[in-house]
Amino acid sequence: MSRPLILVTNDDGILAPGLAALAEAVQDLGEVLVCAPETERSGSSHAITLHSHLRTDEIKPGWFRVNGTPVDCVYLGSLHLCARRPDLVVSGVNPGFNLGSDVFYSGTVGGAAEGYIRGASAIAVSVHARESPRVAIPIVRTLAKVLLASSQRSLLNVNIPWLSREAPGRAADTVAEGLPLQVTRLGARPYVEQVERRQDPRGQAYFWIGGPPRDAGEKQGEDTWAVLHGQISVTPLVLDITAPALSPWQSMLEHVSVASTSAGGEPT
Ligand code: MN
Repeated sequence: MSRPLILVTNDDGILAPGLAALAEAVQDLGEVLVCAPETERSGSSHAITLHSHLRTDEIKPGWFRVNGTPVDCVYLGSLHLCARRPDLVVSGVNPGFNLGSDVFYSGTVGGAAEGYIRGASAIAVSVHARESPRVAIPIVRTLAKVLLASSQRSLLNVNIPWLSREAPGRAADTVAEGLPLQVTRLGARPYVEQVERRQDPRGQAYFWIGGPPRDAGEKQGEDTWAVLHGQISVTPLVLDITAPALSPWQSMLEHVSVASTSAGGEPT
């Protein structure tokens, strides 16, 4: 088999330290191409740029900067910048968890999911906000090797707790060595709901939305519980969000047909 092709991206921008750590993690596992947004695009989810131009430039050999989202980077990377479709897409290392419903907002997960849609296995990697992204290096290497050796294509969401808090003085990239990987489901991830209204210097209102995470009632087996208990969380994701059971809706809609919108409405 020829050397695997690995595409590295993130949502924090081409200069983010997490991107360099991620590229370092996979550098000798195959041919590596880095393609990342020129500015931070955290929270960009699965956004794609369809109504304006994209530009890319190679800022150093194998490192491409794009004026778009993580999804733009993976699309352009997979279909144009890479000589062939990548075998593996890695996205991160995001400073701050992407747990539970965060996966719907996360640009880190969006980039990985796009890689999966374009035919690669993919890993989204996030660490505790106060952790060095370098703790992810041996974890990413381990999972990358597993995925590259597997015939099954997979999409993994990985969250790494603040491991170096327990290992003061140790080099960040060795802290995770020997630790187990916990396979989890997405947990609940509630946030304080808030809309902050402020005034700009010209007297116009502006808003800042979203509050901090709040207590989730974490359950064992969920990603939120795992990181709270110091475990490395690995959540396999699928992209089909259809409800697992259709029968309740089939019964509910069985005798319903689409109502008329003509004037008069309901018969009296
Ligand atoms: Mn981010």
